[in-house]
Amino acid sequence: MRIEAVRGDITEQDVDAIVNAANSSLMGGGGVDGAIHRAAGPQLLEECMELRRTDLPDGLPVGQAVPTAGYALRAPWVIHTVGPNRHRGETDPALLAACFTSSLDVADAVGARTVAFPAVSAGVYGWDPAEVARVAVDAVRGWTGDVELVRFVLFDDAVLAAFTRALDAP
Ligand code: ADP
Repeated sequence: MRIEAVRGDITEQDVDAIVNAANSSLMGGGGVDGAIHRAAGPQLLEECMELRRTDLPDGLPVGQAVPTAGYALRAPWVIHTVGPNRHRGETDPALLAACFTSSLDVADAVGARTVAFPAVSAGVYGWDPAEVARVAVDAVRGWTGDVELVRFVLFDDAVLAAFTRALDAP
């Protein structure tokens, strides 16, 4: 598997699946979640609402992942995951690692071979980007399956630098 880190907007990625740092309600929000909903269009929220009515009446638990279509996005799939929220005392790195591995499991299940991730939990959820980068890179390196490319798409230079450092570490 190839793993890379780039600066950019995840909504513009030409990959099979982009991962959304959602919240458990799946009803959209700020940050990358809001950007993905705006770029995908209103059908994304409709599918999320349908998921809540059917499979996920209590919402998506932290560390788990669920797929929807990408609608107006270039990516045919959006994989929604819920990062741990440090402000609510969710400080276990295993929960954050699970976001990356469960998203890759979902990608594999839908046949996605190229997957873009944001820095899950590094925004409103309050994790240090350097820790997110270490956890994310370790989780992806330890995962096995048919995904061929993982691209971390980081919104600013500081977070990109954190991921570049984590990728340079052995
Ligand atoms: P969380 O609630 O999981 O912390 P946020 O959306 O607040 O999620 O932030 C996660 C990361 O996503 C932050 O580093 C933020 O700068 C970044 N981000 C925001 N918009 C985009 C975007 N369009 N593409 C890629 N990353 C983004």
